[in-house]
Amino acid sequence: MAQRPGFPIKLNTQAKAQPVKAPANKPASSNPQGLGLDSSAVRQRMVQKLAAQGLKDPVVLQAMGAVERHRFVESALVNQAYEDTSLPIGLGQTISKPNVVARMIELLREGANGKLGRVLEIGTGCGYQAAVLSHVASEVYSIERLKGLHEKARANLRHFRLANVHLLFGDGMLGYPKGAPYAAIISAAGGETLPQAWLDQLALGGRLVAPTVTANGQQALMVVDKTDQGFKQSVLEAVHFVPLKSGIS
Ligand code: SAH
Repeated sequence: MAQRPGFPIKLNTQAKAQPVKAPANKPASSNPQGLGLDSSAVRQRMVQKLAAQGLKDPVVLQAMGAVERHRFVESALVNQAYEDTSLPIGLGQTISKPNVVARMIELLREGANGKLGRVLEIGTGCGYQAAVLSHVASEVYSIERLKGLHEKARANLRHFRLANVHLLFGDGMLGYPKGAPYAAIISAAGGETLPQAWLDQLALGGRLVAPTVTANGQQALMVVDKTDQGFKQSVLEAVHFVPLKSGIS
């Protein structure tokens, strides 16, 4: 059986409960990154698995290796943070599997040279994917329709101080015209059709990746390229995302 990753996630709490006398020349806080260092090895194993599953883009793999996914899940789920599984984040929503996050961002970056420009993410959730996107794009605009999750993402992301991530509370089906046009649009929630606003707000040469219900009633990943000859759409593999809903709550 594969061993579950374990690292001292409760380091700070434990330190508080049992004050450690620090030698004068070595303050107790001299290793504040102990947790980060330990989880980095577990993350590298996750990245190796992603590569073994066929993910290739080194920029995406590097971003996946850099973002501490365990900081985005409830403490009871921390030991599962680097497994290839989706996890509940509250209010009936889930953080996507690492494989799916990496796959979608790889699709967004296909053929792109260097960093992506402005990216719009629909469905901030806990903020994990926004953090990964911040490593591959110049600016990330991320919209969430549930106030509770919007606030949770803000709290989760504070630690990372990502100056290029802009969290917005609103209905992502309307996009975010103020940031348009976008080099890329990515949705973490699946609708019946692609909202017109997304197509309008996509830059010429830009790409949209979103789960959408297809003719057989199942969700699949949809990739849309906006070209000067119109939109080019491809339907890729089946996926299971939470539903795209209109309005805010
Ligand atoms: N990228 C997220 C995944 C969250 S799940 C993460 O890394 O955690 C998808 C999210 O989409 C949910 O939080 C859900 O509330 C949100 N969502 C659904 N419809 C939406 C809409 N119209 N506008 C904005 N967010 C929406």
